[in-house]
Amino acid sequence: MKILAIESSCDETATAIVEDGREVLASVINSQVAEHQKYGGVVPEIASRRHAENIVEITEKVLADANMSLSEVDAIAVTYAPGLIGALLVGVNFAKGLSLASGKPLIPVHHIRGHIAANYITHPDLKPPFLCLVVSGGHSHIIEVKDYTEFKTIGKTRDDAAGEAFDKAARSMGFCYPGGIYIDKAAQLGNPKAYKLPIPHVDGSPYDFSFSGLKTAVINLVHNTTQKGETIDNNDLAASFQHTVCKILTDKLMLAAEHSGYKNIVVAGGVSANSGLRASLQAACKSHGYRLYLPALSLCGDNAAMIGAQAYYEYLCGNVADLSLNGCASVPIGDAAPCLHKKVD
Ligand code: ATP
Ligand code: MG
Ligand code: FE
Repeated sequence: MKILAIESSCDETATAIVEDGREVLASVINSQVAEHQKYGGVVPEIASRRHAENIVEITEKVLADANMSLSEVDAIAVTYAPGLIGALLVGVNFAKGLSLASGKPLIPVHHIRGHIAANYITHPDLKPPFLCLVVSGGHSHIIEVKDYTEFKTIGKTRDDAAGEAFDKAARSMGFCYPGGIYIDKAAQLGNPKAYKLPIPHVDGSPYDFSFSGLKTAVINLVHNTTQKGETIDNNDLAASFQHTVCKILTDKLMLAAEHSGYKNIVVAGGVSANSGLRASLQAACKSHGYRLYLPALSLCGDNAAMIGAQAYYEYLCGNVADLSLNGCASVPIGDAAPCLHKKVD
């Protein structure tokens, strides 16, 4: 089954054609990051406008790259949630138009389910159940993936997401948006023990995260040091910050794995590209005897291939939407998409 997938939840307009959830026939990503960099973050109105301007062209391009016409596609998939509402609406309405014009089924896909499904493309042998750490710009979740469309969140951030903490800490160090990758690069040249940063304690759930105190500690350290006329060693601070974030993520994930009994551990989302996190999880999983699955670097950030991969399993489960499908800014990963009707075989 060949699915044409569309992603427009944030600042990447992306299309892909994916076969049977695992094989990417073509994938196109149009990133707006250079434009949003000027403002230090994503400007929602600009994001929506650029999606509207780009979506037709990149849909034509993905079909041309796969050497296919729309009539040869079996279904249309689209990210319907979560994300910036104006950005989501561009993709959702475009996908509804394509579905109506072509008569092909419309499959709504949750963006975070998509991030997890990036691993189905990278690892053809990976199947649920497994335990997944989702670390992205807006999410830091520990999720039990019981089946392809069955999810239980057992831990999440109480405040900032991991990616958000990376980006805000990076900003205070003078790096441009999105700063996660610059911290990663600088950290490779620094000493992770140079600055002592707080490891937050979260009351209640042992699997919940909190990154805002750590982020504020970095911002205060930069301000106080520069006010005294002293200089911060950015490489050392990046290394210390990254080491602390990776330790928090790794320790909580290992604790959750121990308690829940999962032996297969999966990581998803933009921050899964981080070299320190990959190394720290590799070492921890090796010592615990767990198998670790990491997405290919090209599939960590936002893309439509991951949406096409998850869409296949949504379709198999009967999750097809009608034309009343709407974009939603926020939907828990375990919830069913609105406007579903069971497909008639
Ligand atoms: P969400 O998926 O939660 O809706 P999003 O789509 O904006 O949010 P992603 O595209 O999954 O998020 O990830 C982007 C985040 O990943 C940014 O915060 C970015 O800084 C971070 N990131 C990307 N590469 C790295 C890296 N090498 N090290 C750390 N962070 C990184
Ligand atoms: Mg992005
Ligand atoms: Fe994302």
